[in-house]
Amino acid sequence: MKPRHKTAPDSPDQLFDIDSLLNDEEKAVRSTVRQFVDEKVKPHVADWYDTGQLPARELARQFGEIGLLGMHLEGYGCAGMSATAYGLACLELEAGDSGIRSLVSVQGSLAMQAIHAYGSEDQRTQWLPTMASGEAIGCFGLTEPDHGSDPGGMRTLAKRDGEDWVLSGTKMWITNGSVADVAVVWAQTEDGIRGFVVPTSTTGFTANEITTKMSLRASVTSELVLDGVRLPSSAMLPGAQGLSGPLGCLSEARFGIVFGVMGAARDCLETAIDYARTREQFGRPLGAFQLTQAKLADMTLEYGKGVLLALHLGRLKDAGRVAPKQVSLGKLNNAREAIRIARQCRTILGANGITSEYPVMRHANNLESVLTYEGTSEMHALVIGQALTGHQAFR
Ligand code: FAD
Repeated sequence: MKPRHKTAPDSPDQLFDIDSLLNDEEKAVRSTVRQFVDEKVKPHVADWYDTGQLPARELARQFGEIGLLGMHLEGYGCAGMSATAYGLACLELEAGDSGIRSLVSVQGSLAMQAIHAYGSEDQRTQWLPTMASGEAIGCFGLTEPDHGSDPGGMRTLAKRDGEDWVLSGTKMWITNGSVADVAVVWAQTEDGIRGFVVPTSTTGFTANEITTKMSLRASVTSELVLDGVRLPSSAMLPGAQGLSGPLGCLSEARFGIVFGVMGAARDCLETAIDYARTREQFGRPLGAFQLTQAKLADMTLEYGKGVLLALHLGRLKDAGRVAPKQVSLGKLNNAREAIRIARQCRTILGANGITSEYPVMRHANNLESVLTYEGTSEMHALVIGQALTGHQAFR
């Protein structure tokens, strides 16, 4: 029998020469976040996931120290970095866990973004510096128990009472909800949908953590109850009217997901490759069997294509030219391929793959949430379908 040759292994990133597409600043951000995740997240995240307990406040302060919170925003203590650098940070965070990336995404791309883009100068100066440092945590309340994909039908009401606003309603599935100091809440008014900056200490505001999740367990997810929450007139975001306000923030957060999910995919792929090179059956490593190699090759193709798509969208965004429908291309493709990669990697790990000793099943379970939030795959398919045909098929 001819000797079988072992060639020097390349990582998926090396095969695609991803480094050649990044500038020095982007590589520096990537390596800072990767090191943080390796030292402060990966050693603990399986426990956080198993127990459903996340040290969100401590993590937020640490993320603030390395300048990750609202890092793509300008001024008010934010780092003002490029969209691509922010995307790469999301990718590294999600290589740790989608829940950890969600904490940062919701803080920076949803809560801070809403205040930065639509807030008054007073709202910006009051909240953004402490949110950038991680002293204050934010959440973003759009979804309701009966209105998910179709948020335009929301029932949360904001009514005028003299100069004040009084908010009543329920928001559901709100990331960071129970640990938040401030909630950006979207509500119906006589003038259509408006956003409100709600300190969570306000009388009538309650957050109840959802503890029955089988996915994104290293993330705080809550129901928000607003029972006659009285706010001054200055609490309304002056720059957002109608659904375009929250949708603008969602497009920002989706952009981070386009990169982020490829981090989860990479972590699964690297775990599976490592496992396949060492685990032996039938007298040879799993990675020496053609069927395993075909799986690894196909997954590496989808991973590399996903990263290239993310970088392309990052370059478009940095040039001020990315459209929400293009972000939909990335969210649909990359979330779908990441979960496929995670599930396929699980097969390579056999029974070990179902345990929390390895990160693969945790990533796969997390990606179920990522497939659903920030617009389900179906919603993004409909956005792309409308762009291609001119017909909207949402209703
Ligand atoms: P539904 O809208 O009820 O949809 C159910 C299914 O029907 C989906 O497959 C959907 O694609 C499909 N469907 C719906 N309409 C159509 C149609 N017209 N054509 C074809 N198919 C259709 N929300 C926030 O506001 N803030 C947060 O911080 C936040 N964090 C979240 C964290 C987690 C872990 C999760 C799971 C969700 C979070 N969400 C958050 C909510 C999330 O955005 C919603 O779950 C999502 O928009 C889908 O809404 P839904 O779950 O009500 O599903």
